[in-house]
Amino acid sequence: MTLRIPSVRLAPGEDRPAVEAAVRRVVASGWYVLGPEVESFERAFAGACGAAACIGVGTGTDAIAISLRALGIGPGDEVITTPLSAAYTALACMMAGARPVFADIDPRRLTIDPAAIESAITPRTAAILPVHLYGQPADMRAIAAIAARHGLAIVEDCCQAHLATCDGQRVGSFGAAAAYSFYPTKNLGALGDGGAITTGDEALAAKMRRIRNGGQTDRYRHAEMGVNSRLDELQAAILAARLPFLAAWTAARRARAAEYRRLLAGSAVDVPPELDAGHVYHLFPVLSPRRDALQAFLRAASIETLIHYPVPIPRQPALEAQSPAACPEADRVCRRILSLPLYPGIPEEDVRAVAEAVRGFRA
Ligand SMILES: *Cc1c(COP(=O)(O)O)cnc(C)c1O
Repeated sequence: MTLRIPSVRLAPGEDRPAVEAAVRRVVASGWYVLGPEVESFERAFAGACGAAACIGVGTGTDAIAISLRALGIGPGDEVITTPLSAAYTALACMMAGARPVFADIDPRRLTIDPAAIESAITPRTAAILPVHLYGQPADMRAIAAIAARHGLAIVEDCCQAHLATCDGQRVGSFGAAAAYSFYPTKNLGALGDGGAITTGDEALAAKMRRIRNGGQTDRYRHAEMGVNSRLDELQAAILAARLPFLAAWTAARRARAAEYRRLLAGSAVDVPPELDAGHVYHLFPVLSPRRDALQAFLRAASIETLIHYPVPIPRQPALEAQSPAACPEADRVCRRILSLPLYPGIPEEDVRAVAEAVRGFRA
């Protein structure tokens, strides 16, 4: 059953002519993997992020795993990350051969708590992998200070935070590398899977380019064990066509989020505070002690909501072997969190209808 107000709409709108022209151009070109479209998108995306280099890869998950591997992080190493994220964040650590170690979240910001990072550091810790969750930057000043003090690498998971800033500084510029996803629902989405790494280090970028392409130095010469994870020409051309819209789409997300905040003030749900004006509102989550009842209530009003995320990553059966630590704050948030419909083109009347429905819910 399709609901009257979906949580997201993915079909191209104002960008459709540009996207269709890009598709036609690539179809006619006769060149589909690692070519001029990827190079041109990599330059444009690096520019948009203020990074020296960008490496297009197959997914956001691969972007994290390849970043860790290029930094020499693997078996025997621990990577400190957040229990509240897409599970792919931790799976990527495991793909690199490293062990994810979970530091609980800050209950206000909902991103990794710097104090919890400090207590999770061991002699095996090699990196910190913060996630800018829902589009709100993690507390990068504090995290960067901890990393510097302990000689740890930082890889930023920017999969929900395209163009976000932290304290006025672009996310993705605080560490050695940053990982982006272009999964269709992301702030910049492809019409399929896609991902990218940005870095300020050209030597590291060269290593990442090798790893994404089977570890090849020359055609059919494999110097190291790489993977096969390349952004294809079609997705790169589509992303390049959409990139010029991203700033306006981000502004639209912020405007709709501000409207939700205004309309939900004094309601029965908790709206997590905006702690940085650089928040890009990938999602608009609210918290309720009766989350499941609220979701059912909204569904009955034909409003679709999603739960990001129902299970803390360390509670996932796939992570059982990693002997995860306790994370009571993430446990609590996962029982209460609910994402309201939000996308750049969401009609204002839908935002008003959703807010009114939420206000009608008696907790
Ligand atoms: C989407 C996402 C990923 C994974 O990206 P894919 O492109 O789906 O592999 C990782 N981390 C976060 C925070 C995400 O939102």
